Amino acid sequence: MKIAITGGKGGTGKSTIATALSHKLAKTKKVLLLDLDVDCPNDDLILGIKTEKVKDVESMIPKFDYKKCVKCGLCSKVCREHAIVFVKGNFPFVIPEQCIGCKACKIACPRNAIGERKQKIGEIFTSREGKFTLILGRMKPGIEESSLVVNAVKKFSEQYEKNYDYVIIDTAAGTHCPVISALLGCDIAIGITEPTPLGEHDLELILKLTKNLKIQIYVIINKSNMGNKKLIENLIKKYRTDIIAEIPYSKSIEMSYSDGKPVEHESINQIARRIEQLNLSVCQNKNFKV
Ligand code: SF4
Ligand code: SF4
Repeated sequence: MKIAITGGKGGTGKSTIATALSHKLAKTKKVLLLDLDVDCPNDDLILGIKTEKVKDVESMIPKFDYKKCVKCGLCSKVCREHAIVFVKGNFPFVIPEQCIGCKACKIACPRNAIGERKQKIGEIFTSREGKFTLILGRMKPGIEESSLVVNAVKKFSEQYEKNYDYVIIDTAAGTHCPVISALLGCDIAIGITEPTPLGEHDLELILKLTKNLKIQIYVIINKSNMGNKKLIENLIKKYRTDIIAEIPYSKSIEMSYSDGKPVEHESINQIARRIEQLNLSVCQNKNFKV
């Protein structure tokens, strides 16, 4: 079963819950955790484990052949990322950090003056202990488009997923392209939120997104004893989903987080039990009604 732990808002405890849930489930089942928050991955730090680099992530960027180039500027015009700088009368050049490797410039060039070279845009790390494996993607600083690294980590992990009972995906915050890339292919999503107006606003964005992607989503309210839970309960009714757990603010959770240890708390056990029930439903019926 593939589960995305997501949330529109940053800082809601998404990674803390993804790591704690993985740690709990891995006591009895085989669990693969993917850290796809590639701009600032931190699941290894939260779990206090060491990772090893296994792979570079590379992408294509254009390589100009200035002997063939006639300085027409078409390559710059077709580049939607504004990664090619062209000044009339001069040869074009590329800003590597902005290039997403789409090859539109190469296809458009009337003189076949654009070849390909590779640039490193990120790295993949792994760590394995007992029934638990972490695969973590990290984007090279300065690169603009993180979806490329997210997709590379997903592709890398595909070969291993069949060996695991659970694949837990820790997505980035927000509803932008890297989050959509991370969500695609998941059986269910779990949206982490807080009972505040900002939490409500950002949760609604992720509820709309998962509805459009036809992914069944459930909700966990973190710091549930602080703020106004009614805000979240109203949204849950509107989108006809369930709150599967509430995690009250707890000093022991904060201490585990700051000590680099996985959180162990009754609410995490409750989430794990609910996930096991949902896993049975998914196995029995892959066609959820959204
Ligand atoms: S499209 Fe080709 S020929 Fe035109 S400026 Fe770009 S590289 Fe040169
Ligand atoms: S490969 Fe795509 S993004 Fe990169 S420079 Fe060419 S058109 Fe722009």
